[in-house]
Amino acid sequence: MKDSNFLKEMNARSVWHPMAHPADSHANPPTIVTGASGVRIKDVDGHEVVDGVGGLWNVNLGFSCQPIKDAIAAQLDALPYYSIFRGTTNDKVIQLSEELRTFFEPDGLTRAFYTSGGSDSVETALRLARQYHKIRGDTGRVKFLSLKKGYHGTHMGGASVNGNANFRTQYEPLLPGCYHIPAPYTYRNPFNETDPQRLAQLCLQALEDEIAFQGAGTIAAMIMEPILGAGGVIPPHPSFMPGVRDICTRNGILLIADEVITAFGRTGSWSGSRHWGVQPDFMCTAKAITNGYFPFGAVMIAEQVAETFEQDASGKAAIGHGYTYSGHPVGAAAALACLAETQRLNVPENATARGEQLHQGLLALQAKHDAIGDVRGGHGLMCAMELVSDRETKSPIDKKTIATVQEVAYHNGAMVRVSGPNIILSPPLVLTREDALVILDALDAGLAAITG
Ligand code: PMP
Repeated sequence: MKDSNFLKEMNARSVWHPMAHPADSHANPPTIVTGASGVRIKDVDGHEVVDGVGGLWNVNLGFSCQPIKDAIAAQLDALPYYSIFRGTTNDKVIQLSEELRTFFEPDGLTRAFYTSGGSDSVETALRLARQYHKIRGDTGRVKFLSLKKGYHGTHMGGASVNGNANFRTQYEPLLPGCYHIPAPYTYRNPFNETDPQRLAQLCLQALEDEIAFQGAGTIAAMIMEPILGAGGVIPPHPSFMPGVRDICTRNGILLIADEVITAFGRTGSWSGSRHWGVQPDFMCTAKAITNGYFPFGAVMIAEQVAETFEQDASGKAAIGHGYTYSGHPVGAAAALACLAETQRLNVPENATARGEQLHQGLLALQAKHDAIGDVRGGHGLMCAMELVSDRETKSPIDKKTIATVQEVAYHNGAMVRVSGPNIILSPPLVLTREDALVILDALDAGLAAITG
């Protein structure tokens, strides 16, 4: 292995990183990760830390999940690739679909359409939602609604429903007909409302108002994350998602749950929709479906929507959409092994316990460090703290200072993620109590470094 400075130079010379300025790699070279085991990652200099990010919200079972590795190896020998476009399928994808059907039955979702990742899953759901209305002759329903601060991936459709200007502005014009509703974000919202339940009601009213303004008959679907993830881990009041479901149902609008982060246990429930007692019409999944070991995703489809497609005799339900890697046999084998292991370990239980520990730990840090403006969590293993330069005015912290917190935390034993003014924690769901303490102590050191 070449020396780490040389690798960093080569990286800066030849790699463009997602979600980063291309010049950043020179000024702030990224950590070069060369290995991982359990819940720890190792860098090129031999430094080993607890991964508080869980890969990218996907490595729910840690980096040493032998059954998934074995399944991938065996499938590469048996059938490394074949497409499931019309005319062919494979045994693993059939088996997986039956398993997913059972797994998601309580969510009312009974069919699967396969993708290569989260952005593909979002794109698929948006397209199928439009097609659903066309099949039914409701051809005016083409618009989409979503939440401000929502993140729905990087394809043009997904970017159009994204609720963060950073992912939109440089790529405009985006898809016409996409409108955004205020998010139930208690710390900052246009209503200056600090009570989560009243805020949920105000956001629901804003949704009703937007539907009335656009005309219900023009809207195909509302897409939302059950708990906003990349936008800063923003859990809504429990009344919010059921309220959205109710408004969508009353207005003939499909509800797409973007569960690319929340499906498979992260919230402490088997899905984010189930966490709030809601049945969506489509559910976008990816990430933890293969524990991050293979790029793969699935859009789960509600029985009622599936029947509309399947009972169509006009030909309009023919699906003009799909990916070379839809139903990839190696991805399907990985997902099958991952689903079995996820259930065997009953990961929501530990996600709830460790999530509570981290949430309480962050609240304790907030009492100690003025830079923490807001702490969010309490729903499984997804927590965040929002940093400010002044608690009174809530002025967001600057980029350099938050980067210092991250860097010092890393040198004290934990990788954490920075997203805007937020430090986000989404560690593997198999985290132990001791691992969680390492993360909290590392953050304590990081915060101490900026307050002196
Ligand atoms: N939807 C949500 C809610 C996500 O968090 C993400 C990724 N973080 C995506 C979609 C896009 O997934 P991918 O990066 O796998 O394309």
